[in-house]
Amino acid sequence: MKRVLITGAAGFLGSHLCDRFIAEGYRVVGMDNLLTGNIKNIEHLFPLPEFEYYHHDVSKFVHVPGELDYILHFASPASPIDYLKMPIQTLKVGSLGTHNLLGLAKEKKARILVASTSEVYGDPNVHPQPEEYWGNVNPVGPRGVYDEAKRFMESITMAYHNFHNVETRIIRIFNTYGPRMRLNDGRALPAFMSQALTGQDLTVFGDGSQTRSFCYVSDLVDGIYRLLLSDYHLPVNIGNPAEITLKEFAEEILELTGSKQKIIYQPLPKDDPKQRKPDITKAQELLGWAPKVDRKEGLKITYEYFKEAFNK
Ligand code: NAD
Repeated sequence: MKRVLITGAAGFLGSHLCDRFIAEGYRVVGMDNLLTGNIKNIEHLFPLPEFEYYHHDVSKFVHVPGELDYILHFASPASPIDYLKMPIQTLKVGSLGTHNLLGLAKEKKARILVASTSEVYGDPNVHPQPEEYWGNVNPVGPRGVYDEAKRFMESITMAYHNFHNVETRIIRIFNTYGPRMRLNDGRALPAFMSQALTGQDLTVFGDGSQTRSFCYVSDLVDGIYRLLLSDYHLPVNIGNPAEITLKEFAEEILELTGSKQKIIYQPLPKDDPKQRKPDITKAQELLGWAPKVDRKEGLKITYEYFKEAFNK
């Protein structure tokens, strides 16, 4: 059995990755310090002999006994309210944390995949964004702590590939949603759904004309799985190119939840990207990947999860 280390295992994406790798017959070592994660996301895996869990901050030296075939580095605050509250931890986990895990990959001769983000494109001047676009990021703006940590992550990963021949993979993840997102994590979808569930008006920032592209979590996980097993070391975008304005998105949530509330508008946060849509040509050609779950279906499943989480 192959053995994979997943950092950020108790988080939204990390926990779904643990499930997928267990289902594929791997031994999974989960690691997390619960900074933004929730142990409940992986509690169901604890009885399984093929699952181990380490409570550890990966910005400190990382040691894992035994062999490792793969490392998936997903530990990092990921939503703006988290990284604005924890700017130093965010910079550290993207820089020191990535350095530690690359060192571990070198020591174990393991292949490592790092979770980068569409935020490396900043507020993009090119639309949709292909991997060759270098981005438009404000390094000293509030979002810079996340965007630059991820840009550094990509650079050091390439350096380990080029200078130490470590097998590396870089994924640039676009907005992803699904069960196990936190209701209060501040991103548009959980914010809209929790507002609808509590009978509040839905808050849209700016005039709502800014766009996002939302990918359902099982599609993303499948893209990650394929990229890890591919032989391509340059960054690959994974996301759903179906683009929607935030105003339309809020309307879809009102319709789905049957809510009678209104949409209200508040000022746009600083450096908020105006548009976001992945060019997924590489993922299609190199990995044979394309998203399968359309937004209507994905939102229905996610709403069921939020309703249940809310009533607990
Ligand atoms: P999340 O907050 O749900 O999960 C992140 C996990 O990392 C949490 O469980 C947290 O406790 C853990 N963590 C944070 N710092 C740590 C540290 N120093 N040591 C150990 N564990 C630590 O976020 P998510 O949405 O699951 O995102 C996972 C990864 O994917 C992040 O690296 C994020 O940047 C990236 N990403 C996510 C999205 C998305 O749409 N969800 C988009 C782009 C990139």
